[in-house]
Amino acid sequence: MIKPQHHEIVVIGAGICGSTITNELLQRGQSVCIIDAASSPATACSSHAYAIAHPHIGRGSPRLLRLTHIAFLLAEARWGTVWNQHGIFQPTKKDKHFDRAEATNYLKSLDLDEDIAIALDALEAEKICGIKQSGVWLSRGASLNIFEASNALLQEHDDLTCLWNTRVTKIEQVNSQWALLNQANEVILTADKVVVATAMDSKALMSSIGIKLPLKPVRGQLSIFSIKKEDAWVSRLPRVGISGDGYCLPAQQLEDGGYRWMVGSSFDEGEDDLGSRESSDAFNREQAQGLLAYFEGDLKALIKADDFVGVRCVAGDRLPIIGALTQRPGIFLATALGSRGILWSALAAKLITAQLLGDNFALLARLGFAADLVAALAPARFFAGALPAPAALASNSKPILPSAPRAK
Ligand SMILES: Cc1cc2nc3c(=O)[nH]c(=O)nc-3n(C[C@H](O)[C@H](O)[C@H](O)COP(=O)(O)OP(=O)(O)OC[C@H]3O[C@@H](n4cnc5c(N)ncnc54)[C@H](O)[C@@H]3O)c2cc1C
Repeated sequence: MIKPQHHEIVVIGAGICGSTITNELLQRGQSVCIIDAASSPATACSSHAYAIAHPHIGRGSPRLLRLTHIAFLLAEARWGTVWNQHGIFQPTKKDKHFDRAEATNYLKSLDLDEDIAIALDALEAEKICGIKQSGVWLSRGASLNIFEASNALLQEHDDLTCLWNTRVTKIEQVNSQWALLNQANEVILTADKVVVATAMDSKALMSSIGIKLPLKPVRGQLSIFSIKKEDAWVSRLPRVGISGDGYCLPAQQLEDGGYRWMVGSSFDEGEDDLGSRESSDAFNREQAQGLLAYFEGDLKALIKADDFVGVRCVAGDRLPIIGALTQRPGIFLATALGSRGILWSALAAKLITAQLLGDNFALLARLGFAADLVAALAPARFFAGALPAPAALASNSKPILPSAPRAK
């Protein structure tokens, strides 16, 4: 029998998360082998072409605010060339009163400079970004084609090995190395360090080494509508992104004078069916009315042209799971990116690479990471006691959800 290949570092999963981590490791001079069950990068949730990115500015979850601020700056720097910066407007919730001074003070308290987030009343917002609603203007907010970004990250490189059409079904510790096995229980390869970035499938892979993760699928459908050039919606269509109850991209004018407009998305908890649904398009039409505060808009004029359906992977406390699995030295996890794949993959690339290469914490601190933030992302947050392996294999893998308020 041929001896399986050995790699120092293997990344499982070539979605945006695994691709970004791999790219960061290559930039740091490492040799990396990336494995994916599919025949090319970004075929699952990361086949998404319409994702937006902005720092979270909602109230009630201070760690999420700090983390998304750091992650936004990292994402902006990483994807500069494919970053489609059109700005994103976040309207005031319909049941909330807008007070500009109060909103400005609140944004200041988050350490967000005015070039990142500025409170605007409806008249100012109409002048600056064409939306006649009060809210917060995030001028550096952007969208990204996650599919293209993932593929660009995995261009040919002397230090990169890609293994496509290879599903890992089990991980096993063999002496001080990790063996990755396929469905026939054959060893695909061995590695010193393994980064697991397989979204929902991380649950099965982790359970093969005695770790239970509280992950759940959340199906989502985005709708791409076409709008005829003479329709009343045309004068209301946005030239910036809007993020509120749902989100939309700037409308694009077509050669015939009509428009194409992406609006999303449904949030179907516990579901993982990839089939397209009319009910999700109907939901998105109503979200479109809400985002533009155009409740008299004729829903039938939003003609379905296309859609994207994906399954998000979400953790019990809604934060991503990013970090070294201290109970299993050499295993690193980057999963549960939820609806923030752009931000969390940029953050995961820095954090996982720093932990894997044993960087001094001061380097991370310079990027804004504080110890409490690293702990908030760490897989260990779900395990009682976090005893060192291997004694803790069984008793230590019971998931415990933090009692802190849920991050959105
Ligand atoms: C409707 C919708 C709207 C969204 N909107 C936004 C948005 O506006 N902004 C934003 O930032 N994010 C958004 N997201 C989220 C974003 O798309 C995801 O967070 C991101 O794509 C997840 O990337 P990933 O690499 O973790 O997972 P995936 O893209 O699912 O990649 C996992 C990879 O692992 C591989 N794999 C799985 N199991 C195995 C195995 N056992 N062996 C080998 N390979 C395996 C798969 O083939 C796949 O390539 C949205 C998602 C949805 C569904």
